[in-house]
Amino acid sequence: MTHPAQPKASHFINGEYVEDTAGTPIPVIYAATGEQIATVHAATPAIVEQALSTAKAAQKAWARMTGTERGRILRRAADIMRERNHDLSVLETYDTGKPLQETLVADATSGADALEYFGGLAASLTGEHIPLGEDWVYTKREALGLCVGIGAWNYPTQIACWKGAPALACGNSMVFKPSETTPLCALKVAEILIEAGAPAGVFNVVQGMGEVGGALVTDPRVDKVSLTGSVPTGKKVYAAAAEGMKHVTMELGGKSPLIIFDDADIDNAVGGAINGNFYSSGQVCSNGTRVFVQKGIKEKFLARLAERTGNAILGDPMDEATSFGPMVTENQMNIVLGYIEKGKEEGARLICGGKRADMDGYFIEPTVFADVTDDMTIAREEIFGPVMSVLDFDTEEEVVARANDTEFGLSAGVFTKDFTRAHRVIGNLEAGSCFINSYNDAPVEAPFGGVKASGVGRENSKEAIKHFSQVKSVYVRMGDVEAAF
Ligand code: NDP
Repeated sequence: MTHPAQPKASHFINGEYVEDTAGTPIPVIYAATGEQIATVHAATPAIVEQALSTAKAAQKAWARMTGTERGRILRRAADIMRERNHDLSVLETYDTGKPLQETLVADATSGADALEYFGGLAASLTGEHIPLGEDWVYTKREALGLCVGIGAWNYPTQIACWKGAPALACGNSMVFKPSETTPLCALKVAEILIEAGAPAGVFNVVQGMGEVGGALVTDPRVDKVSLTGSVPTGKKVYAAAAEGMKHVTMELGGKSPLIIFDDADIDNAVGGAINGNFYSSGQVCSNGTRVFVQKGIKEKFLARLAERTGNAILGDPMDEATSFGPMVTENQMNIVLGYIEKGKEEGARLICGGKRADMDGYFIEPTVFADVTDDMTIAREEIFGPVMSVLDFDTEEEVVARANDTEFGLSAGVFTKDFTRAHRVIGNLEAGSCFINSYNDAPVEAPFGGVKASGVGRENSKEAIKHFSQVKSVYVRMGDVEAAF
C-alpha cells in the first residue's frame, strides 16, 4: 500500500502536479524508523525548463494585479494552512523526523504567519513623491521578476513560505527547490496557494540535488536567488548568481554565542540554552552552540542543565509526548557522532548524552560538553546536531572578543539582569539576529539573517520586502528642456 506521505507526483508546475520518471529517484526516508515512505524524482532538464518558462510567463500578470488582490490570496492560503495544521504537521514530521509536539506549533503555523504578514503588506508597497520645485520625481517599488528559492532540510514548510510569501507579495514568481532530503512539504505549500486563488505558475516546486539548484541559479531568466543552506553552498551559489548580476539572499550557517552572566536567572538561562541547542534536535542554523557561562555560576548552571536535559523524551515523533526527535538522516547522525568523538578526544568534559540512543531511527542523545576551549573543533565548526559546548569566562570584555572570534555571525544571545550591560554586549557582538534573556524566537515581524559568513540580506519583516523588490525612480519635468545645443 502506498504510504500517505507519498505525493501525487514529484513536481508542482503551472498549477498542477507533474512527473518525469526519467529523473533520478530520490528516496524519502522517515528518520524515526529508517523506513522508505516515498519516492520522488529529480527534475530533468525538461522539467527545469517547464518550471522556469511557466514562472517567467506567469509573473507579469501577477505583478499587474493590485497588492490588495495578491495579499488576499496569500492570506487565504494562510487560513487554509492553519485549518490543515494537523495534517501538514504530520507530513512535516514524516519529512524531517521532528516531533509532532514541535511541528504542530512551529512549521505550518510559521509558514501561515509569513503568508498572512506579507499578504497584509502587499497592498502598502508604495513609492515616494519627491518634489523638486516645479518638477518632481516619483518612485515605484517593483517586483524583481522570476525568483528562485532553494531550501535546507530542517524547516521545509517554513523555508518555502519565508521565501515564497514575500516574493509573491511583491509581484514576483518563484521556482522553489526543496532539499532532496525533505522534498514533501513544499509541494503542499504550492497546492494550497493554487487553492487560495494564486494564478497557475506563480509558485512552482521542482525536486533535485545541487545540480538542479545549479541549473536554476545560472539560468539567465532568473532575477533573484534566495538560499537557505550551508556556508560552502552559499559561496558557490552567490558566485554563480554574481555571473548573471542577480540579486541574492543567503541564509547560511552559524556557530552562535550565548553568553550567560553571573547575575542571570539560572532557570531562564538554562531554558534559553536548551531552546538554543536542542530544539529540532539541534538542527537549527541560529542555535547558540557556544554557551559562555561566567565562572561564578558555572557548576550550578551545569547541574541544572543536566537535570533538565534528562527530562527530554526521546521516542516516536508522532506521539505528542515526545519532545526530542532523531537526526534528519543517517548521514547527518554520523556527522554529529563524529563531532561528539572529537569533543571527547580533544578533552572536553562530557556532562550528559554523548552517544547514539539505543532505539530505532537516527536518534542521538542531547549532549552537553563543559570545559570546552575556543580552539576545540566542537567550538569552531557548525555541528547541526544536539551538541552544546559550555565554555567559561571571567570578564565582559574577554567574552565579547571570544564570542566574535569566528567566521560566522548569524545569532547571539545574552542572559543578565543588568540591562545596561545586556544592550552594551549585544551592541558589541557581530551577529544579525540577537536575543536578550531569550533565545531562538523567530517571529515573522522581526528581520532574520546573518552577518559575516552567515549570510547576506534578511528574511521576514519589512526588510524582506526590500530584498524581493527594486525601486524605479521617474523624473517628471513640467517645463521646457534646456540643452547645450
Ligand atoms: P546545503 O548547503 O547542503 O544545501 C542547501 C540547499 O542547496 C539544498 O537544497 C541543496 O540541494 C542545494 N544545493 C547544494 N549545492 C548546490 C549548488 N551548487 N547550487 C545550487 N543549490 C545547491 O545545506 P543543508 O540542506 O545540508 O542544510 C544544512 C545547512 O543549512 C546548515 O549548514 C545550516 O546552517 C544551514 N541553514 C541555515 C539557515 C539560515 O536561515 N541561516 C536555516 C537552516 C539551515 P541538495 O541538498 O538537495 O543537494
